[in-house]
Amino acid sequence: MYPAPFRYYRPDSIENAIQLLSELGEGAKPLAGGQSLIPVLKLRMDEPTDLIDIGRLPGLRHINNENEIIRIGALATHAHIGKAGVISHIPIVTDCANGIADAQVRSRGTIGGSISTADPSCDWPALLHTLDAEVICNGPNGKRTINIRDFILDSYTTALGDAELVTEISFKTPQKLSGGSYIVFKKAAPAYPTVSAGIQITLAEEDICKDVRLVLSAAGPRPVTSDEAEAVLRGNKLTNDNLEKAAEAIIAASDPTPDSRGSASFKRSMLHSLFIKAANIAISRARGNNIIGAHEYV
Ligand SMILES: Cc1cc2nc3c(=O)[nH]c(=O)nc-3n(C[C@H](O)[C@H](O)[C@H](O)COP(=O)(O)OP(=O)(O)OC[C@H]3O[C@@H](n4cnc5c(N)ncnc54)[C@H](O)[C@@H]3O)c2cc1C
Repeated sequence: MYPAPFRYYRPDSIENAIQLLSELGEGAKPLAGGQSLIPVLKLRMDEPTDLIDIGRLPGLRHINNENEIIRIGALATHAHIGKAGVISHIPIVTDCANGIADAQVRSRGTIGGSISTADPSCDWPALLHTLDAEVICNGPNGKRTINIRDFILDSYTTALGDAELVTEISFKTPQKLSGGSYIVFKKAAPAYPTVSAGIQITLAEEDICKDVRLVLSAAGPRPVTSDEAEAVLRGNKLTNDNLEKAAEAIIAASDPTPDSRGSASFKRSMLHSLFIKAANIAISRARGNNIIGAHEYV
């Protein structure tokens, strides 16, 4: 199907994009890589009157390490992030970036577009929870920083205000003795995830957890976290028993939707095995081992 007619604008600066969005109002939408928005337009699930193409705006594609803070411009594509040298020592990020869809989607889709969509099965909104990431937004009232936990409010709902754009995502470089893993279960590479699990851990010593962040994705309307599950591991020995208890606690907080990808009980069972696998890879990486993460396909 063809999209409904719309007017197309290509502003040359962030300021002009924000001004256009303000002036044109509710019917205007930013367009970045188009990998979520164009299918929505073609299915006529949305009919914006005006598209503001931000895809070629300067200054939004950087991937830098500034004093141990990783800064990723909103227009950095999944492919750029997956190959970026400054990210290569943070394997949970490369697990995520390189596992999204296929090469075509990865070369167009952007991290800013992914979190702005807040699709419950998309990877970046969940993954960024494991790194306590901050989202930098620019709008008519200037710049503000929102923690990812407060940015993703619900299914397809973010804290973005009117005419506000995501311009950057930032997070601290993980400390020494840290490791992470993010694993997706999906039908095939170009398919959206059925369910996913991520864990970022810092060790105090060989078997003791100093700090941890856990997340499940496609397991509820927004990324699933659990203070209770993290408390099971933090400060304690990383025994199989404790990993099982943490898995049980976070899965109890999930609410996967039954759909063509699987029943709720099938998804819970997959979440359990992904969680345990991701935890073991994360612990091994934190101990300095080089483990190639692998998504699971049907
Ligand atoms: C076949 C297929 C398979 C896919 N599989 C996966 C997968 O396995 N995992 C996964 O995570 N994703 C997957 N995706 C989604 C993909 O990652 C998209 O690239 C991403 O969700 C949106 O990024 P975009 O740059 O293309 O955004 P667009 O499609 O251009 O925009 C998406 C939405 O965000 C808004 N927006 C875009 N940029 C900004 C910004 N900077 N500030 C404010 N609002 C903004 C737009 O107005 C629009 O509402 C898949 C997509 C397809 C087509």
